[in-house]
Amino acid sequence: MSVRHLLDTKIVRNNLILFEFKEQAKDRRLVKRHIIEALMKKYGYSRSYIEQIVYDSKITHRPCTSCGENTNISQWKRNQGVCTKCLNKQQKQDNDDK
Ligand SMILES: [Zn+2]
Repeated sequence: MSVRHLLDTKIVRNNLILFEFKEQAKDRRLVKRHIIEALMKKYGYSRSYIEQIVYDSKITHRPCTSCGENTNISQWKRNQGVCTKCLNKQQKQDNDDK
């Protein structure tokens, strides 16, 4: 099996997971967390892996883990889950400690 083939298989599977999640998420009675848990069992992936697939595609903002403010997803990832304000605060504190 070629690397190219492996890569395609992975993409196909990710799309399938995303598709299934979206289909089930249409049913308002289902809790998203439960859908993710079912997908984890079905495909044998970790929670973070499934979450990455299903949230990456549509979520543009995530709450800062420090102050809870909505943060642009690319920024949020770069700053490891905190907004720029909190990151600056942290860096300032780090500098103050020196
Ligand atoms: Zn923050």
